[in-house]
Amino acid sequence: MSRESPYAMVAIDDAQRLIRERVVVLGHELIDIRGGLRDAAAAAAGRVLAHPVHAAGPLPDVPKSAVDGYALQSLDGTAPRRVVAEITAGGGDAGALAAGEAMRIMTGGALPAGADAVVMVEQTSERDGVMTAHRAPRAGDAIHRVGQDIAAGDLVLAAGTTLGIAEIGLLASIGTVAVSVARQPVVAVLATGDEVFEPDAALPVAGVRDSNRYALLAAARDAGCRVVSLGIAPDDAATQRRAILDGLERADVLLTSGGVSMGTRDLIKPLLAELGTVHFGRVAFKPGKPTMYATVAGKSVFGLPGYPVSSLVSFEVFVRPMLRRMQGDAAPDRPIVEVALADAITPSPDRPEYQRVVIRARGGRLAAHTTGGQGSSRLLSLRGANGLLIVPPGGRPYPAGALLQALLTGPLAP
Ligand code: AMP
Ligand code: MG
Repeated sequence: MSRESPYAMVAIDDAQRLIRERVVVLGHELIDIRGGLRDAAAAAAGRVLAHPVHAAGPLPDVPKSAVDGYALQSLDGTAPRRVVAEITAGGGDAGALAAGEAMRIMTGGALPAGADAVVMVEQTSERDGVMTAHRAPRAGDAIHRVGQDIAAGDLVLAAGTTLGIAEIGLLASIGTVAVSVARQPVVAVLATGDEVFEPDAALPVAGVRDSNRYALLAAARDAGCRVVSLGIAPDDAATQRRAILDGLERADVLLTSGGVSMGTRDLIKPLLAELGTVHFGRVAFKPGKPTMYATVAGKSVFGLPGYPVSSLVSFEVFVRPMLRRMQGDAAPDRPIVEVALADAITPSPDRPEYQRVVIRARGGRLAAHTTGGQGSSRLLSLRGANGLLIVPPGGRPYPAGALLQALLTGPLAP
């Protein structure tokens, strides 16, 4: 019997393409940006718009004052003006303004007919119902023009936009409370391993706490998905088969952890080969070489490695982009940035490696600081990391100052 894996080692790009070719974009559903009663707007944040949103009318709808001051006719220059009315935001129509007149107006108050400028209160004086502008106003001063913020018919949000803080505010501002968003993929996560236990269980000697399932569930949620936890399956083919079929019934995507290497109790690959089609069974990258990808009845299954760092890096590189594409995200991939190494690093001799780094803006460029030991079991290498440094294979270390590319997986560190 061969001691080599029967699966060809595919390149990262090829693996990503094999996944991309099988993305199933899910349907959409209407949500209300006001959310539930208890959970206002939480339901909308992070969702991906399925259709573009246009503004029905202009914002503002009528000319308004941009400041607290006086509405007037600019032609009158600095001549004293009679104050004939006061216009508050939301107040009624004050009628038309004639030459020689001014109307006290508050920010957001509708500009009266006849006025063509507003002077802010700080640049005026008023006595006995007569105001004087200290400087001659120009037509258009301090007027919030019709459509200045949003014109009627403007594309406000494109399909594929992920709703964030500003987007939710924009939708509310144009009165669009119901929006069509992609259905959230349901991701089921199964841990495997006779040695794997719940994190709060009394551990036998050599037992391992199940960090992968909880980290992967969090990662799937962070990628915009709903999640189903399938627990821990022992290294027994019948049990794992049942758990996989159960997961496929309940979810759109199944992630398994462990059981994909060359051990005698690594059963996931043959099981998925039997249940469906394996598209790749090994990837030339580090950490996470045994990562596999299969489809079973059209649903994607990722067999992620058991080593905690490998499973999370594989998720980032292979699973997350698919989960974003399934939601129609117009920008499903993390940005790739050029970084300068703050510390020397050693590449893997034979495989491209994603080393975990903290990326900071320093002196006009991005600096990547290593998170220390890059062992696949050392979850501490992911603590605080906001980047995966893409390190080409080779025999020589990269010195501090060398420029490499990195996937930016989070906001820049302070
Ligand atoms: P495997 O891929 O099943 O050979 O597992 C590789 C390594 O990862 C072993 O040391 C396992 O004990 C460990 N491991 C497997 N599953 C998990 C898990 N769910 N959480 C943390 N470590 C795990
Ligand atoms: Mg195992």
